Amino acid sequence: MSPVTNLVGMTPAALEDLAVELGASRYRGRQIATWVYRKGVCDLEAMTDLPKEFRARLAEVAHLSLPAIERATPSQDGSRKLVLRLEDERRVSAVVMPDEGRVTLCVSTQVGCGYACAFCLTGTMGLDRNLTAAEIVGQVLAANALIGPGEERVTHIVFMGMGEPLANYAALADALRVLTDARLGLAYSPRRITVSTVGLVAGIDRLGRDGLRVNLAVSLHAATDEVRSRLMPVNRGWGLEALMAAVRRYPLAPRQRVFFEYVLLDGVNDSPDDARALARLLRGVRAKVNLIPFNDWPGAAFRRPPLPRILAFQGILLEAGVTTTVRWSKGEDIGAACGQLREPAVA
Ligand code: SAH
Repeated sequence: MSPVTNLVGMTPAALEDLAVELGASRYRGRQIATWVYRKGVCDLEAMTDLPKEFRARLAEVAHLSLPAIERATPSQDGSRKLVLRLEDERRVSAVVMPDEGRVTLCVSTQVGCGYACAFCLTGTMGLDRNLTAAEIVGQVLAANALIGPGEERVTHIVFMGMGEPLANYAALADALRVLTDARLGLAYSPRRITVSTVGLVAGIDRLGRDGLRVNLAVSLHAATDEVRSRLMPVNRGWGLEALMAAVRRYPLAPRQRVFFEYVLLDGVNDSPDDARALARLLRGVRAKVNLIPFNDWPGAAFRRPPLPRILAFQGILLEAGVTTTVRWSKGEDIGAACGQLREPAVA
């Protein structure tokens, strides 16, 4: 075990194993989990119900560390973009979005992203590295600590920040276990957590098999392979047929649906024919479509369609019986909207 092991992000089961490795009982591991996840305490010295010798032993092999909030930029719409500094000085962002009694946190899973979707600013960075489970869970703990007592804590978590969650599967799964453990973790209902993917078929299957029960969101953005492959290189490996088959296999609870994100790009994927093709593709799928009008960034090769075109697209889907909302992204004025996240890797 390396001396830099971060206890934050370890599953309660792994903390129990660690306690045993250090010659203590599993109960000590559960106590650590309770301090970190239930009480938000990330200081070994403050864990006063742990025997002093055990704490000393623990301090030799492990530490507790949260990403540092370097900046918290408020948007006019009430959301806040957090720039978090990691232990190696790399930076990722998370976005806090209060809305009608909910507080949704959008978290990152990688520094940069390797999937190079044509319309996405993060995609221009390439992949730098995966985040650890500690850094993923740390975003939630850091955001909750920032929100402070009295204010509403994070109620919903969406894995829609920088990176491709399913390309960092092991860390994602550990983070989800910590976030959803009702007794020793952060106790979020899996139904309040949404994992969004470019469409990694093997990852979708694995998420289903592992029984993590979170909501699945698929970044679709086109209803034909021709257009989708142009916008999303990932589609050249896993085309729509394989993707939709994986979606149909994904285990859903009785009223649960799969979310589909569809960024509307002027003159590219926003015609009435595109809308009809999308409705056909989703036939028989328990789906909810979120249309995201394109968010601009400097140097982008796309534009947002005019409002009537957006509403016409939505109208066709509704007419076909597909639940569809237009998601006006939050935090556009502060570079926090969908597809606008890019932090300098090292200052
Ligand atoms: N890699 C995962 C998680 C990122 S979610 C995924 O692709 O699903 C971020 C969402 O914002 C994705 O649906 C992405 O396609 C979308 N997006 C990217 N750039 C955008 C932009 N400029 N305007 C609007 N949405 C964008």
